[in-house]
Amino acid sequence: MIYSPSKLETYETCPQKYKFAYIEGLKTEEEGIEAFLGTRFHETMEKLYSERRFRLMSLEEIQAFYQERWEKNFHEKIIIVSQGRTADDYFRLGLKFIEDYYRRYYPFNQNRILGLEEKIEIDLDGTGRYLLQGYIDRIDLTPEGVVEIHDYKTSSTLPAQQEIDSDRQLALYQLGLQQKWPWAERVRLVWHYVAFDLEISSTRSPAQLEALRQEVIDLINLIEADQEFLPRESSLCEWCSFFSLCPLKKT
Ligand code: SF4
Repeated sequence: MIYSPSKLETYETCPQKYKFAYIEGLKTEEEGIEAFLGTRFHETMEKLYSERRFRLMSLEEIQAFYQERWEKNFHEKIIIVSQGRTADDYFRLGLKFIEDYYRRYYPFNQNRILGLEEKIEIDLDGTGRYLLQGYIDRIDLTPEGVVEIHDYKTSSTLPAQQEIDSDRQLALYQLGLQQKWPWAERVRLVWHYVAFDLEISSTRSPAQLEALRQEVIDLINLIEADQEFLPRESSLCEWCSFFSLCPLKKT
């Protein structure tokens, strides 16, 4: 099994959900509107920065791209959990995220782009026994020589700095990036909380990365030893795409 930060997170949220998704390989067509909006925003940023190598897209042009992707991908199985909210509310929210982001970072030439949606592999013990992979939204090189790992977040809650400083996903990407590019000595982790028009950053020391490496090896050992994959109820059940199959929920 090749792991990913999101697989590990799914297991920690609910082992039963992990079993449905990654052991039994069940697929559902249902998708939360928040995840749908997040995917459309990510596509839009990828388009903006990949075009930037050749030309600068206008705000209207990039918003039109977002609209086209929204309409093309919208489907019947999109779930809106928040009472009284419509798909159009979320569509317009996305337009606002793009406008704020565009105005803040225009003309998008502050750094050199090293990668967009870059696939990264993380070999935790150097033998291939504990492998993870993921995709980094954007990798930048600053004029000062710092490599930045950027991640776009469309969520409506803003984490505490303490959570950012202990976030696992981007720190794992740092491990993989430094395996791939050993010359990248100075690395900064950057999150764009676009609903708040905020950029938040953090760094990891070599000791913190080593502790993380061991912690994730232990977690993988725990997953592989699990025989039961018990369901774990939480407020996230409302967004669970396996709700109707769950032994705790099905009627
Ligand atoms: S509904 Fe809740 S408890 Fe059931 S599988 Fe989904 S997340 Fe787990």
